[in-house]
Amino acid sequence: MKKIKEQTVPYNTGWVAEMKKGQILRIAGTTTVDFVAFDLRNLRERFDQARTKVYNMKIFISVGDKLMSRSNQHLMTIVEDTYAGGTHDLQKGMCSGYRFQLAKREGRLREYYHRDFKDEEIPDHGCWENLSRTLQPFGIAPEDIPSPLNLYQTMKIDGATGRMEHTTIRPKPGTYVDLRAERDLLVAFSACPDLPVGGKPVQATIFEP
Ligand SMILES: [Zn+2]
Repeated sequence: MKKIKEQTVPYNTGWVAEMKKGQILRIAGTTTVDFVAFDLRNLRERFDQARTKVYNMKIFISVGDKLMSRSNQHLMTIVEDTYAGGTHDLQKGMCSGYRFQLAKREGRLREYYHRDFKDEEIPDHGCWENLSRTLQPFGIAPEDIPSPLNLYQTMKIDGATGRMEHTTIRPKPGTYVDLRAERDLLVAFSACPDLPVGGKPVQATIFEP
């Protein structure tokens, strides 16, 4: 594969790129990455968590599974996934500065994030702000950003009660997911502050097959 673009995305910032049909995006990281995709020709046609879960008939997706849009179009296919011992999440939305403050105010930081935090450890912004800023130049309003595919966010979900729990399971260095564009796309992600474990930079690479 020929590398056509590569970027290291710092902790708690956003990244955006255009992709042509057939190109492959590799996202390498050791903490959570909130990923979204839009049809480049119609930015209102965007990734949809519910469509994706029902199309693949599962809540954890990996190699061979497709990312679906609001009107059930194929946006991307996962063609490689080296995340061993963990899963990607399709339940959660985006973290945000307000979300962290709300958890603090309600005394639930430990319940959500497994430990207590000093005030200065709580980020003043998160994936919501990162994706909002990153997608603003494309005319995408914050409220039109879909709930993401949360790569490397391993959730424990009880099948009988539906109770969800965050875990601190994260990828080992060198772990990556390859996603093939099934149409021309605008793709974006936030390198999550990933409160339980502390976010890290994320590597984004686009390949021509
Ligand atoms: Zn986040």
